[in-house]
Amino acid sequence: MTKPRTIGTVGIIGGGQLAQMLASSVRHLGIKCTVLDPNPDCCATNDLGQCDQIVADYDDEQALIKLAKSCDVVTYEFENVPGQGAALIAGHGSIHPNPAALSTSQDRLSERAMFKDLGIPVPPFAQVDSLDQLIQSLEQVGAPSILKARTLGYDGKGQVLISDPTKAAQAWDTLGKVPAILDGFIEFTRELSIIATRSVDGHIEYYPLSENIHRGGILRLTKAPARQVHKAVEEKARDSVKKILEHFEYAGTLAVEFFQVGQGADAKLLANEIAPRVHNTGHWTIEGAKTSQFENHMRAVLGMELGSAEPTGHSAMINLIGNEPRAGSMEAMPNANIHLYGKEPRPGRKIGHITLNAPSESELDAMLERFTRIVG
Ligand code: AMP
Repeated sequence: MTKPRTIGTVGIIGGGQLAQMLASSVRHLGIKCTVLDPNPDCCATNDLGQCDQIVADYDDEQALIKLAKSCDVVTYEFENVPGQGAALIAGHGSIHPNPAALSTSQDRLSERAMFKDLGIPVPPFAQVDSLDQLIQSLEQVGAPSILKARTLGYDGKGQVLISDPTKAAQAWDTLGKVPAILDGFIEFTRELSIIATRSVDGHIEYYPLSENIHRGGILRLTKAPARQVHKAVEEKARDSVKKILEHFEYAGTLAVEFFQVGQGADAKLLANEIAPRVHNTGHWTIEGAKTSQFENHMRAVLGMELGSAEPTGHSAMINLIGNEPRAGSMEAMPNANIHLYGKEPRPGRKIGHITLNAPSESELDAMLERFTRIVG
């Protein structure tokens, strides 16, 4: 068998499932990927990802330079890439998306400041650097509220719910006395996210808003397109993501997560956070959109034309957390698209996802109902 001709090489910082899906999304285009990851068993190098690997820490300067020099462009699959690493790559090669988006997303306070500067509504919040400041902020923001570490928090980690303001000291201790923000607790109608990809020359492809259900801070289910979204609300979401993409002169895929408050045309969207990368709430696009978020990200970072982000029907994506489905249960769901990342099952770990697709909302609901009954 002849090997496909390589028309481009992309270096990816991080070798998890997102790198695996990025690489597999462009194999048909002859694009080859090398990941930089300290774990020699990272899942991007398995049969699904087929990436080459540089086994090194994310702050290993020689390894970063090697990656920059050996690839046409470098991108990243997770947010906690050290800022100096991104700058180093920029000095030796090309990196997309703009590392400024990365550093903004690494700090909840800078992220909120960016939203405010761009006129994007956010939940009420305050900066917290000490217990005294937390006590003052609780008076200003009120309770219940959520104390969130400014850095290194994800999937609900680094957060403490404060229901009783007299427990401020306990919350401050639990968080580890680190710089934080205090977020007013939003009684949201639902959680939505928008994903969009911007090309190097400024063209933007928008995926439709998706509805996301989290439990314990971890995404469990995404339905896309989200139901009963007023045109004005979809426009607000598009306008917000466009402002962010243009602010960073961004090339690649980016997600914005919102809390929807209220209903109908007057529903407010409060921006919670951005992810300057492909996102879990966009996994449905592999089967459910004309071009997936992964392929469009790779097209963007390589300076290629984007594909259409139009959905092809109705999709639901269910994350597999901790365990694979019960043996034999998937056989009763022949139309389900199952993605197992090849990771060791462990409590709380995302080890795969399943996407259901249907031509109508009612058919999708019937599939979901069957899925819940049979697979759990
Ligand atoms: P985050 O790490 O900020 O994405 O938070 C994880 C999850 O916690 C979110 O998806 C929400 O379900 C919940 N959450 C975070 N911030 C708030 C808030 N201000 N009000 C209500 N729920 C929140």
